Amino acid sequence: MSATLVQGAYIVAGLLFILALAGLSRHETARSGNRYGIAGMALALVATVLAATAGEDGSGGLGFLLIVAAMGIGAVIGLDRARKVEMTGMPELIALLHSFVGLAAVLVGWNSSYEQTPYPTIHDIEVFVGVFIGAVTFTGSIVAFLKLSARIPSRPLMLPYRNWLNVGALALFFVLTAVYLAVPESSVFVRHLLLGVVTILALALGWHLVASIGGGDMPVVVSMLNSYSGWAAAAAGFLLSNDLLIITGALVGSSGAYLSYIMCRAMNRSFISVIAGGFGVEGGTAAADADYGDHREITATGVAELLAGASSVLITPGYGMAVAQAQYPVASLTSTLRERGVDVRFGIHPVAGRLPGHMNVLLAEAKVPYDIVLEMDEVNDDLADTDVVLVIGANDTVNPSAAEDPSSPIAGMPVLRVWEANDVIVFKRSMATGYAGVQNPLFFRENTQMLFGDAKERVEDILKAL
Ligand code: NDP
Repeated sequence: MSATLVQGAYIVAGLLFILALAGLSRHETARSGNRYGIAGMALALVATVLAATAGEDGSGGLGFLLIVAAMGIGAVIGLDRARKVEMTGMPELIALLHSFVGLAAVLVGWNSSYEQTPYPTIHDIEVFVGVFIGAVTFTGSIVAFLKLSARIPSRPLMLPYRNWLNVGALALFFVLTAVYLAVPESSVFVRHLLLGVVTILALALGWHLVASIGGGDMPVVVSMLNSYSGWAAAAAGFLLSNDLLIITGALVGSSGAYLSYIMCRAMNRSFISVIAGGFGVEGGTAAADADYGDHREITATGVAELLAGASSVLITPGYGMAVAQAQYPVASLTSTLRERGVDVRFGIHPVAGRLPGHMNVLLAEAKVPYDIVLEMDEVNDDLADTDVVLVIGANDTVNPSAAEDPSSPIAGMPVLRVWEANDVIVFKRSMATGYAGVQNPLFFRENTQMLFGDAKERVEDILKAL
């Protein structure tokens, strides 16, 4: 494949990726966005493999076979995982995939450190930056995977002087890079020793950055690691002189950074403090066992009666809806109520679930009309005029202590003010806390009633009673 054709294919693939990002920003265009992304990636793979294996000396044939075999193995594993993964397992799967990007950047960096180039200084900087970002992404993503899959607790690791540890690691990276540039190329052992130290330093920093972030701030970490994986890919693109990898990495890196900024705004957190590993966050002290009084329970039939007399209903789903796979009966309940003339709307908190857009994906899957799925800011002011709010498997995102208790670990995070409605029904299985581990005073309010049990079964019971 000629170099011009490859460049042409890369430009087309780059444009397709931009169209994919634009499409993915809205419900209505998300499917076509996905198709653009798939087409762009297919084109990019074909062009890259053909270009990389077009050896004029005949050696390309073996290279081609090896790459196709590796891609085949990867595709079989990837397809198998994608088919089996539950929607609730997506966040940790994505964190794991980010770690692969980081590891790939580290390996590419180490491989490139053995190469001779006409521009050694620039090349050395590329190697150091690529290995550093890759290693931070690798261990950071592994810790995120462990936290999201509840293999380790989500509470923040509070090492003494943790902020200075992060700043010190960054400063040491710059010093080691400068030393590396000063060491002559002939001192191979010293140069690799320095690269090894930087790799270990970055692995430790990535681990510490994410370990120091508390459960409540994990949404930002997920999008931030997405961004890091983009920059790691871009760094690998520089080392491999692959323009498309640079473009794609920059697109992922910058869109992930922007998403992190949006998530920080949604959670009222400082962007700098979160990317610096919780810098300045002192951790709240809300007592997990505070005595808020007694809670009231209701049956599915009772909820059906309440809904039958309501003229406006707001449904706010959370992670529990994903766990229960309750989106289908929730969609049926929505259409039943709408057929009866009830005004039904959904209020989606930006960090509900375990992935940015998690709830929107589930509701779209169950074919809930897009125009009644609204953002938190679009519904919060009307909640006082709403008859019934159904909180389906949500907890932290409807916790009044975020708004009312400055000592709460989630203090300052904007939440859906569901307690302002006439009646609030909370669907969950127990009185357990949500992801941030904070007790929820909403459950003890006078206008709140708990409907215990699996959310899917309870919504189906309500449908029957209706
Ligand atoms: P939460 O995680 O706060 O609470 C979910 C609730 O669902 C639990 O209290 C649980 O209670 C209930 N639940 C679980 N399974 C079921 C079931 N089968 N049927 C009924 N209820 C069930 O959810 P939210 O969506 O409100 O908040 C999201 C949290 O996750 C926030 O703290 C956010 O910061 C964090 N997070 C978000 C990410 C994102 O990108 N969106 C990423 C990482 C973390 P019980 O066990 O009693 O049933």
